[in-house]
Amino acid sequence: MKKTELMKVLEDFNFRPGKILGQNFLIDDNLLEFIVRTTAPKPDEVILEAGPGFGALTRKILDAGAEVYAIEFDHRICDYLRNNLQSERFHLTEGDACRVEIAEILPPNKDFRSIANLPYAISSIYIAKMLELPRLPRQMLFMLQKEMGLRMAAQPGTKNYGALSVRAQAMYDVKLLRTVPRQVFFPQPGVDSALVDFHLKPDALSQTEGIQLGRVARCAFSQRRKKMIKPLARNYGQEVMEIAFANLSLDLEIRPDKLDTATFIALSKEIYGLLADQICSFSDL
Ligand code: SAM
Repeated sequence: MKKTELMKVLEDFNFRPGKILGQNFLIDDNLLEFIVRTTAPKPDEVILEAGPGFGALTRKILDAGAEVYAIEFDHRICDYLRNNLQSERFHLTEGDACRVEIAEILPPNKDFRSIANLPYAISSIYIAKMLELPRLPRQMLFMLQKEMGLRMAAQPGTKNYGALSVRAQAMYDVKLLRTVPRQVFFPQPGVDSALVDFHLKPDALSQTEGIQLGRVARCAFSQRRKKMIKPLARNYGQEVMEIAFANLSLDLEIRPDKLDTATFIALSKEIYGLLADQICSFSDL
């Protein structure tokens, strides 16, 4: 959607984009084309889009023949979409993308991918939600605030590496494709953006393992500058943590930002394995 087209829509609907809902619409056709070229939507494949706005990206994905399942929170935008985006392959859910039950709106047993220019305020919650779905998107391509993009792709030992980097990289190969200047949006946000690509790993964790890893990583990073065994011991018990660290030959002094994703996964499996053994031995009493 070009800026003149968007301005006309905004004027016709007397619509003032809101900051709280992150309503910064894409007005750069080259960038939209780049997203479509990179993701190459196929006829009949299922694409989940959070926050379609006035449909700049949605129309291009539909033009490629895909089925788009979109979730939009703003009811005025939903009215616009119902009246102006009439395609049998466009399925709109009005609601909060962070709360909608994804499995209930998508066709069952079908692979899907998720593509979106995400509203910044919900991006971490939405990504965390995607990571804990029973059926994970095969690929995700998101426009994110640049800092968030850096966090997603961050490596251990860097300041951007955190719990969400661990959780995302346990499931996906994450790549920051390019940074995006604020000029490609209307209205311009106060920060730059980044396009981040997530490719599902063949050995991604199960839903339960992913949820457990999320708990361990969040707990470990609750004090990112301190020894991670401390908050973990408060949560899982000193004995469990000492055995888990010993079994993995982990340094008791290690801080969470130094631990790579593979070791986080091993630690999480170890902790929950030990807890399951404890439960079994209690039930034997
Ligand atoms: N995809 C459009 C584009 O690129 O021009 C719009 C992107 S704009 C950054 C974000 C969109 O997400 C807006 O349409 C906004 O109303 C919608 N939105 C904000 N919070 C939402 C939420 N919690 N659930 C669903 N949509 C939301």
